[in-house]
Amino acid sequence: MGNKRIFANQKMYMTKKEVDEFIKILGSIHSEQLVICPTAIYVEKFSQSKLILGMQNIFYEDSGAYTGEISPLQAKDYHIQYAIVGHSERRNILNESNDMLKKKIQACIAHNITPIFCIGETKEQYEMHKTNEILKRQIIDVFQGLKIHDISKIMIAYEPIWAIGTGFIPTEKEIKDTTQYIKNIVWQLFDVSISVLYGGSVNEKNVQSLNQIDVVDGFLVGGASTKPKELLKMYEVVVS
Ligand code: PEP
Repeated sequence: MGNKRIFANQKMYMTKKEVDEFIKILGSIHSEQLVICPTAIYVEKFSQSKLILGMQNIFYEDSGAYTGEISPLQAKDYHIQYAIVGHSERRNILNESNDMLKKKIQACIAHNITPIFCIGETKEQYEMHKTNEILKRQIIDVFQGLKIHDISKIMIAYEPIWAIGTGFIPTEKEIKDTTQYIKNIVWQLFDVSISVLYGGSVNEKNVQSLNQIDVVDGFLVGGASTKPKELLKMYEVVVS
């Protein structure tokens, strides 16, 4: 039986009707190998299903005058177990800083929520063979100053920015080597053995072969995770 996991980043997709349909098809699955991160407004709806849930984003204070934000304390009311931290869309569109990401990670851990920390290089950096250097920088910028105990609770999602939503992905060898590189760096710098997911254009067609990459611990899936039948097929691949 496979042990990789799928994390569904549903972003700002789906209407209430589509969410109902999604829950009808997948809502009875209760498995550590399938985690749904819905648009926040649908978390309550999803919390009535059996699915394990994550947030797409989380704030770093428990409560207060922070218009539009959701705290880890509030997320816990809905049995949230994971939170995506530092997705490239939030870093680039909403200008999330390394300092914010560090605080978000600490807040998650304080509430027993596993942070899924996203890193990834741009197309230009990839073409200039700077991927490893960039990823190392992104890790150090946020992990430095965190307690080793906190680092040991983090999962990393390696998401090349140029692969997100484009249909282009690195070669399997590149994914394998980069994932191994990330694990080695975290081990060397912080003495922590960390889980690493791959994200970026994973779908029903390529999941079978990506699933063969042994060092990868699972997948962060965006667009394809909003189609329940496609997601179900992908889930069947990782559990088989
Ligand atoms: C993502 O943005 O986390 C992602 C993996 O997106 P997609 O699968 O659509 O490339």
